[in-house]
This record gives sequence, C-alpha cells and structure tokens, in this order.
Amino acid sequence: MRNHLNTHLYLPSGKYQTICFQYLIVLSEYPVYSSGLKNIPLWYLIMPLLKRAAFALCVVFSTNFVSAQEALPLDPLTAETSHYLQMLAGEQGIGVRKAGLESEVKAADYIQETFAGFGLDVTRQSFDYINRRTKEAQSSQNIIAYKPGTSGKSVILGAHYDSTSEQLGSLGAVDNAASVAVMMSIAKMVSQLEQQEYGVTFIAFGAEEVGLVGAYEFVEQASDQDIANYLGMINLDGIVGSDKLYIHSAHSTPYTCQDDTSNYAFDPSLREQLYKIATDLTPTDTFEIHPGFEGYPKGETGGWSDHAPFACAGIPIGNFESTNFEINGQSGRDGYSQSVHPALWTCFDPETMGACDREKEEKWGKIWHTGNDRLDVLSELFPGRIPSQLSLNLIVLRDFFTHIDKHVAQMQEK
Ligand SMILES: [Zn+2]
Repeated sequence: MRNHLNTHLYLPSGKYQTICFQYLIVLSEYPVYSSGLKNIPLWYLIMPLLKRAAFALCVVFSTNFVSAQEALPLDPLTAETSHYLQMLAGEQGIGVRKAGLESEVKAADYIQETFAGFGLDVTRQSFDYINRRTKEAQSSQNIIAYKPGTSGKSVILGAHYDSTSEQLGSLGAVDNAASVAVMMSIAKMVSQLEQQEYGVTFIAFGAEEVGLVGAYEFVEQASDQDIANYLGMINLDGIVGSDKLYIHSAHSTPYTCQDDTSNYAFDPSLREQLYKIATDLTPTDTFEIHPGFEGYPKGETGGWSDHAPFACAGIPIGNFESTNFEINGQSGRDGYSQSVHPALWTCFDPETMGACDREKEEKWGKIWHTGNDRLDVLSELFPGRIPSQLSLNLIVLRDFFTHIDKHVAQMQEK
C-alpha cells in the first residue's frame, strides 16, 4: 500500500496521546483503503496538514475534557479487536477453549468464518494427536488464512486460540484470545490492501497448551519450498494484560526442536525490525527488549510457544509478550511473574502450607494460567489497560503489514 504520510512527525508521550495517535493513523488511512480517494493526489497533499490538526485537537480535547477515570471511546481498529476478544473470551462469548473440548472447535469455526468473511483464502488443517498429559487421542485444527503477494513469499502472523487452566477460572482472555483478536483485525486490514510483493499467512493454532501441537503440525505439513517462502513468523502469545510489553527473538541456543536442530535459526532481524517500528511509532519505552537473565540473554525467549517450530525450521521469528521482567519472581527475572499489582500477590507460605505474613509478601503475581486471566477480573484490576495495550500492539503490527515490502527489505539488509 502506498503511504506518503510521515508518521515520525508525532512522538506522543502520554495515555491520551497514544490513543489520539492510533485514532489518527486509522482515520487518515482508512478512507484511502476503502474508497477511490487513493487516486487523488490532493489527498496526499492535504493529509499531513489534516493529521497535524486532528492530532492537536484530539490531544487538547481528551486532556482537557476527559478525566482519567472516564473511558475514552476506542479508535475503530481497537474497537473491532475488542469485539473479537469479547466473542472469544467475554462472559457472553465462547469462553474456555481447552484443547480437545467442543468449545475449541467452536472457536475454530468462529475464526474460520471471520477470516472467510474478509474474502481471504481460508484452509482448515485438521490433525489428530495424543494429549501428552492425559494420553488421550484428540483432534484439533489450525485455521489458515492467506493473502497472496506477487512473489509467492509471505510473512506469517500466528496466535493460538486454545486456552488452559479452566479449573482455576481462566477464560484465556490474555492467553490467548486477545492475540487472536489482534490477528483477526490485522487480517481484515490486510484483506483491504492492494496486493504487494510479499503476502501474509495468518495462522490460528489449535492445541498450543498441550505441546505446541498445531504449530508443529503446520511446519511438518509444509514442503521445503513452502518453508523457503516464509520470510518470517510473528507469534502473538499473551500480548496484553501484564505490566509491560516486550518483543523477543528466538534464543541464541537452539530449542530442542524435537531432536533436530540442523535448520534452527536464531536470526533476530525480525525482532529488530518490529522493535524499530515500535520505537518510531509508540511512546518512548512502550515496548522493551527484556534485560538478560541467566539462561535468557537479552531480548531472547524460550521455546515454549508457537514460534519454536518455526525457528527450528530456520525461519526468523518475532514474539510479542506482555509480562514484567523487572520482577524477581518465583524463579528469578524470567518473565514468569507478570504484575506487581497487590491484588495478585499470592501470599502463600510453602513451609507452613498456609497464608504468609502479608509483610513478607514477594509483591508480584501471575495472570496467565490463573483465575485472573479473564476480562472481568482484569478490567477491574487495571481499568483501561487492555484496550490501551491492544491499541499499542495494533500500531506496530499495522505498520509492519501495511508496509510489508519495505520492512522485509530492511530486515534482509541486516
Ligand atoms: Zn499462550
């Protein structure tokens, strides 16, 4: 998609600025996608002026007239994403999507119908597997949507849609309905773009929580030529809800890769490109590269999510994740403890097997795989956090896929 707008002109630094900024991007580009306006050179002349004026008005208006407690209206892309999130994990939505349950299939059906509604080529890749915990024979499915480029090459955007820890009350809102919702919004946007050199392959993975089964299945089913045509894989897993936002690369030490590491790629070029976009387009320090921790060098992540089989196949990966690496948690600064919010402190003393002394609390808590991973709990604990973080993730992904040819070219220069 052509875009002559200089998005580097604005460096928003606060909550309202972030929201205004997102509004601005969407408002300034949506008419271009969806109408004949792109053929009018005048549009490109007046747009930078309109953008400046709209941004200034939005900031002044929201800062002066909306108190911090009041919810701002969501920009269109975030509103759409929030709708998909509600459909998947809201109180009235599908809810628990445990691998092997009928509700996992229901989520797959919903994603498939939504992708098809955008006019993308959609494939349902069904597979059987043995659940590694229960040893039961189960089946699941990946839902794959494709927007071709002229070159036959594409970048993958993936997110798993199954959930876990339902016995603790989790509805899998941040792990991982929010990521699927973001992927669906980006798919809709991409479906409206003109064809570029590079295409996009969207994959909603099934059965991630029981051993990355869908992701391994996808890579196994791909031919060598298919693998060569995937220029990168962006994995979204747990991208909102926690205190901070990160973008990781694969680990510099190969993952286990089902005992075949011969094709493994560490290649951080995709992470670097995504981080560059984040630095250019979001407020300073919104997205971070996590500091080094024993076993997890700076910016690198483990093989515990759907990016792993792709790194094993030699594809550069970028992994978005919301957590808090500043917390010295249960097993160190490893990102497994996600928030300092006092309501999440577990206050549990393993020695007495009872409640701990509140004074000695470690002051951190967990969201994924707990009863806190639900929209009702999170919206109460962190008012406004989820839509705001959805919006920030959308800013980065939206830019990457709108200008995919440019970003892939810059990645490959590295
Ligand atoms: Zn997950």
